Amino acid sequence: MTMNNQGRPTRGDATDATAETTTGNRALQIEESLIFEKDAYGETGVDFPAPTLTTNRLGGVERRGEIGLPGLSEPETMRHFVRLSQKNYAIDMGPFPLGSCTMKHNPRLNEKMARLPGFADIHPMQPEGSVQGALELIHVLSFWLKELTGMPAVAMSPKAGAHGELCGMMTIKAAIEARGESATRTRVLAPESAHGTNPATAAQCGFKVDNIPSDKTGRVDLAALKERLGPDVAGIMVTNPNTCGLFEREIRAIADAVHAAGGYFYCDGANFNAIGGKVRPGDLGVDAMHINLHKTFSTPHGGGGPGSGPTVLSAALAPFAPVPFIVEKDGRYRLIERRDAARTAGAEGELSFGRMTAFHGQMGMFVRALSYMLSHGKDGVAMAAEDAVLNANYVLARLKTEMTPAFEGYCMHEALFDDRFLADTGVETIDFAKAMIDEGYHPMTMYFPLVVHGAMLIEPTESESKAELDQFCDALLSLARRAKSGDVAAFKAAPRFAPRRRLDETAAARKPVLRWTPDAPLQAAE
Ligand SMILES: *Cc1c(COP(=O)(O)O)cnc(C)c1O
Repeated sequence: MTMNNQGRPTRGDATDATAETTTGNRALQIEESLIFEKDAYGETGVDFPAPTLTTNRLGGVERRGEIGLPGLSEPETMRHFVRLSQKNYAIDMGPFPLGSCTMKHNPRLNEKMARLPGFADIHPMQPEGSVQGALELIHVLSFWLKELTGMPAVAMSPKAGAHGELCGMMTIKAAIEARGESATRTRVLAPESAHGTNPATAAQCGFKVDNIPSDKTGRVDLAALKERLGPDVAGIMVTNPNTCGLFEREIRAIADAVHAAGGYFYCDGANFNAIGGKVRPGDLGVDAMHINLHKTFSTPHGGGGPGSGPTVLSAALAPFAPVPFIVEKDGRYRLIERRDAARTAGAEGELSFGRMTAFHGQMGMFVRALSYMLSHGKDGVAMAAEDAVLNANYVLARLKTEMTPAFEGYCMHEALFDDRFLADTGVETIDFAKAMIDEGYHPMTMYFPLVVHGAMLIEPTESESKAELDQFCDALLSLARRAKSGDVAAFKAAPRFAPRRRLDETAAARKPVLRWTPDAPLQAAE
């Protein structure tokens, strides 16, 4: 195999007798080097002769050396990017069962709406009078978010779920400061099964994070929670449905206890897709909750794509919300960007903690989310939640014949398994996940939540058909049987059919090499 100057295998080596193919290609999966390594500079295209008669008016800033861009023809460029795109797995190719991520179909209607020139071609600094339609869309979307959650206010600008959490916790912090209690209320409670972003957000806001244990059923231990409440508690962060895919049945009691202790209740609403149209978080006593438009309302995500995390707020927190807000009067839409303006307009944010981002939020995601809502309707949003829960329970019921569910009973929108079914087989969760790749399935979320040993969290979403779910379950059941039959070697060797085998994922995350430089020395393996 030929390596590039950073130690990355690029293409096959005809002299390597042990290689499976001389090209490095496998079936119709074609190997691809980096575009700079294609090294065709000067071979394609036309260069005009240097001009001789004109006077140079560039004042000495003209380019002297080569531009350093690869010189590929259009078909070469096309193939390069198409081959790279084929190395990415996508929801448009097959099921994407990552738990907690809600990788569901992104209806093409949403895309069509987002590309309308009146939404796609506007600029956030245009005068208000020229973007009334866009402001109206944000206003209408805000209305439906408040309606669906039963909350009186929503901050639209957060750019994703974690950013929405930050918005909610900064709002809580501002409210506590206004009460003159910022020196004393320094602790935030979070269940030990919390999504990693929850404690990270609380810590980012300067709070101490205190873990609350789960009970045997995978839910917050209410008695343990009550013991930890006190005058130093700023609030609690709870995901519902939680990261074990279970509904927190004691959620009202949790909210009441936290409120009685003077704290606020932050609900991580990233899993709103399981309850949209069925339950209103406002009725459960929630003070702040972000909604991942890119999960529940099906705007594209994954691979770091744009998200959007509007944060709904209770009446107690609304005054502290970040600007901007949109208000409507006599059919005209205005952006309220300052506290004093919020006060006179009677909008949220009259005691605003400030601004979280430049401009107003993720316009393209707003358009897609509203298209999804309006094309589904109230009954359709509720049916999506019901089908998501039904699909997860179908997977749970089929797989529990060979695999071990982490908790008893029904689940919500995701089915959680532990690794007891692999006990004494020599196969571990990671091997099982890698073997799924050979079967053509993107693995589920592994080793999360941490409270479950060797966790495998499967979220099928409502967009998979029964036939697709059956094929997926058949594949997993056969893998489980193979693991139990003692075929360890095959699992340890997986994935065998992927372009790459097992990668050093820790090094890739901790020491990413993101930039190709022509003369970088070969990276020594550590
Ligand atoms: C996805 C998710 C988040 C974070 O959302 P991002 O948009 O990725 O920042 C937070 N909490 C839970 C439970 C999630 O599933």
